[in-house]
Amino acid sequence: MMEDFDLILSNAHIIDPEQGINEMKDIAFRNGKIAALENGIPRSKEVQVKNLSGSIVTPGLIDMHTHVYWGGTSIGIDADSYSNSSAISTLVDTGSVGPGNFYGFKKHVIEKSRARILIYLHVSHAGIFAFSDKVMFGESEEMRLMDPETAIEVANANKDIIVGIKVRLGKWTSGSNGIRPLEVALKVGGACNLPIMVHIDEPPPTYSEVVKSLRPGDILTHCFRGFLNSPLDKTGKIMPEVLLARSRGVYFDIGHGSKSFSFDIARKMLAQNFYPDTISSDIHRLCIDGPVYNQVTTLSKFYNLGMPLVEVIRSSTQNAANILGRSSLGNLKIGSEGDVSILKIKKGSFDYVDSTESRIIGDKKICAEAMVINGEWIKKT
Ligand SMILES: [Zn+2]
Repeated sequence: MMEDFDLILSNAHIIDPEQGINEMKDIAFRNGKIAALENGIPRSKEVQVKNLSGSIVTPGLIDMHTHVYWGGTSIGIDADSYSNSSAISTLVDTGSVGPGNFYGFKKHVIEKSRARILIYLHVSHAGIFAFSDKVMFGESEEMRLMDPETAIEVANANKDIIVGIKVRLGKWTSGSNGIRPLEVALKVGGACNLPIMVHIDEPPPTYSEVVKSLRPGDILTHCFRGFLNSPLDKTGKIMPEVLLARSRGVYFDIGHGSKSFSFDIARKMLAQNFYPDTISSDIHRLCIDGPVYNQVTTLSKFYNLGMPLVEVIRSSTQNAANILGRSSLGNLKIGSEGDVSILKIKKGSFDYVDSTESRIIGDKKICAEAMVINGEWIKKT
């Protein structure tokens, strides 16, 4: 008796870091889920088969830091076209909205998008509402905008979408408030049993003040930012507070963005065996035309800095899903969500730029080819 699948991808090189798979196999989907992963899956005449020889198939990529409330916030880009451009099946929006405007985002974008969207809800009433090339007002600068009570209420009522609480800290986002906005976010996270994600820019507060306050499961984004507030001390060694935070279970996310990623810092962190837990783009209106472009370019930067391909993929699949608390994402186990990314590695000479206008020439580039979401083949447009 031949099993009926909806879609089979054959002859692809499968990389599933969580299951330790790094070889040629076929993968099949049924009813929107992963249904088989083995060699020579038997097929009926009716089933849709894609021959992917020369391509790599990974669990559906997760971009842990994005801004996709297009039209609702000046920072937002279109979720589905971004997802398509980089073969990302899950977008995590971090802080575009707060409790005051969450339901607009849910109704107008999250419910209508093909890509899965999960969010970190901002603790400030309307999230990142004034971020453009003309107007920059830090939503954490004004303590009157902090809205912990409504944040708890909205987060508790929407745990299918809200995976954590976001706050932005630093000279450009919280002004002179120091860690006061962080204290509010921690209180909210504690009350609704969710981790928090913290953005850091220039001091105040300092990098070490911030990581010292984080609890296991919390995540620091922009973790490899350059001077000021980098994770390194004056001698170029990783600050002890950073290592202590990691050993306590605090996570470190890249969140490249327009101002938050330095090749120099990344090189020094990798040389000290400190890989980021998650590599993410922090894609938004002001960085989508460079230096970020997309998630596969961000992944390519780490690949060219010497991080092994499997670890690069792990940081955008297994690790992200684990931090999000979604065990049916980020792996190709039978029964997991039917999401995969189809990638190709191109060899050549490629120019990469970080957020400090520093450049590297790399000899490889991870390119997005297509993806499958909920078992449905989605061609790259
Ligand atoms: Zn961001």
